[in-house]
Amino acid sequence: MIFEEMNSCVEGQKKDSYDTDNNSLMSQEEQMRRLSDKLTMEEVLLDCIGSLSMEDDYDKAFDRFLEKLGKYYRADRAYIYKMDFDSKLAHNAYEWCAPHVRDRKKKLKNLPVDVLSKWIEKFERDGEFYISSLTEEMVGNGELREILERQGTESLMLAPLYIDKEMAGFLALDDPSINTDRLTLLQATTSFVAEEMKKYELIQELEYVCHTDLLTRIPNRNQYREDLHYYEMNPPESIGVIYIDINGLKLLNDSFGHKYGDRILVTVADILKQLGRNHVYRVGGDEFVVLLEGIAKTQFNSVFLSLKKELDANPDCDVSMGSVWAEGEPDVISQITKADEQMYAEKQSYYKNMLRGGQTVRAGASGEVVRELDTDRFVVFYQPQVDIKTGRVIGAEALIRKLGENDEIISPDNFIPYCEMEGVIRHLDLFVFRTVCRHMELWQKNNMDLKIAVNFSRVTLMESDIVDTILRICRRYHIAPEHIAIEVTESISKMSVDHLNQLFDDLRGHGFTFALDDFGSKYSNLSILNHMDFDTVKLDKTLVDQLVDNRKSRSIMKNIIRMCDEIQVKHVLAEGIETKEQMELLRDYACEYGQGYFYSRPIPVEEFERFVERN
Ligand code: C2E
Ligand code: CA
Ligand code: CA
Repeated sequence: MIFEEMNSCVEGQKKDSYDTDNNSLMSQEEQMRRLSDKLTMEEVLLDCIGSLSMEDDYDKAFDRFLEKLGKYYRADRAYIYKMDFDSKLAHNAYEWCAPHVRDRKKKLKNLPVDVLSKWIEKFERDGEFYISSLTEEMVGNGELREILERQGTESLMLAPLYIDKEMAGFLALDDPSINTDRLTLLQATTSFVAEEMKKYELIQELEYVCHTDLLTRIPNRNQYREDLHYYEMNPPESIGVIYIDINGLKLLNDSFGHKYGDRILVTVADILKQLGRNHVYRVGGDEFVVLLEGIAKTQFNSVFLSLKKELDANPDCDVSMGSVWAEGEPDVISQITKADEQMYAEKQSYYKNMLRGGQTVRAGASGEVVRELDTDRFVVFYQPQVDIKTGRVIGAEALIRKLGENDEIISPDNFIPYCEMEGVIRHLDLFVFRTVCRHMELWQKNNMDLKIAVNFSRVTLMESDIVDTILRICRRYHIAPEHIAIEVTESISKMSVDHLNQLFDDLRGHGFTFALDDFGSKYSNLSILNHMDFDTVKLDKTLVDQLVDNRKSRSIMKNIIRMCDEIQVKHVLAEGIETKEQMELLRDYACEYGQGYFYSRPIPVEEFERFVERN
């Protein structure tokens, strides 16, 4: 079609020249010059098109094309702008600059399409056009003028690009210094450019589809294979590998349908994506791999721990994980195998626990924690719990602390996830429980009648002999179980409800009570209250935080307290109370108990004893 157009130009030229011949105004040389001009134009066009279609690499093809076009018009820049009318943004997609001219491709990303409105109108009305100077009519007085003036552009040639009849961008030249009356050439190239752009977009889409898992939108097995091949050729200096497998996905699919299974996959992938989409792969139905190249060991460990923590906190994500880190140009594939084996071992223990309630322990870590427990590196702090109406201390929550090398206090958030992962949390929980019982024995002698809440990880509760173990400890220190509240988080809902109810009934039969911790936090799920009975529900700090400033939070709080009352939860305790205003609001809502810095931080045992005496 373009050739037809060009030919008709040349035809028209011939006709013109006959006319002028008749008028004897145009010399034969002039006719020849015009003709050769047209031929040159046709050559340039062919050359430009050639550079677009002959080069396999699209980026290079566009670069070369723009260079040819830019040189023909002796312009400062030749460029292609893409416009996306959905996102209302435009960007400079390709650019060629004359040697003395500074490029500004990077600067002109995400330009609002509105800035170009004058040009878009003119494209729609007249197609291509030439601006010989920046008049008000052509560039207005707004941002467009500023951009052009800033970069010193004085004149432009522009032609719109249409893909499937929709305007998709434009082709432009800044400050063309010759052939400015040859808009036809510019216009003639646009349909080829648009065609190539369309092909390129299709290829990119195809590329995306081939390398992306369309459910979770993360790289798929194809991408994984390619990246492994790359690592084979270019071993990294160091690599951290995390292998993740969703526990029981098949069973979940079978029991709740594929939509449910898909939701779990997406949730896990979304959490993994935070590490950067390009490092995460879905390598099988329920398996994910994370590869972190060039990362230091300590950083990798903390990335792994926080990932583990986030996945654990989310009741939808029950996963087994393995992690390995290596340096010195390690073989990535064998590192992945190691991480996979570790994950598999964890999975075995997960299934064993599910079946028998047993707990396996990884040898090294267990020894380390037990040794630290023996050497007084762990201590128990108490945070008072108070009757909000009367201000009377009713008990406390026991919270573990670790002492660092210089006796600095290390918060449990730094070691609990690790201990849970390594299967040694039971040592910690039982250490706290034992310590609490030892303290209570002394308090009872001094007529201090308090109820102490102890945190138990779900992993500890899965132990088959847990009931016997804690009863033995109570007997040893002469503590009646009625004085102990066992705090569990919602993550226990990952255990089977039947098993849990049996365990709760058993312990309750001996007099222990139960508190549901962190209720109302990010992942909480009402259904746990449906299936299990708790004596106390602890309202999470995040609910309390927003009470004063947020009307909605107040209404949520009021309703949760009312609901707890209706379902016969005996006590409601608000956590993380920091201010008097919060305390007063909670008191107005008839929240019975409170805990938080407003009353006291977690404090060492002697300090706690003094606190109780004072109150
Ligand atoms: P948690 O059971 O929700 O404990 C409450 C946490 O909130 C404690 O952090 C406490 O210091 C903090 N807190 C209390 N009041 C306030 C307040 O007014 N403002 C603020 N900003 N924070 C407040 P801590 O002691 O660092 O404990 C963190 C978590 O570690 C605990 O959360 C619990 O999940 C876990 N943990 C602590 N001790 C044990 C234990 O012996 N066994 C197990 N399995 N987990 C434990
Ligand atoms: Ca707690
Ligand atoms: Ca809590």
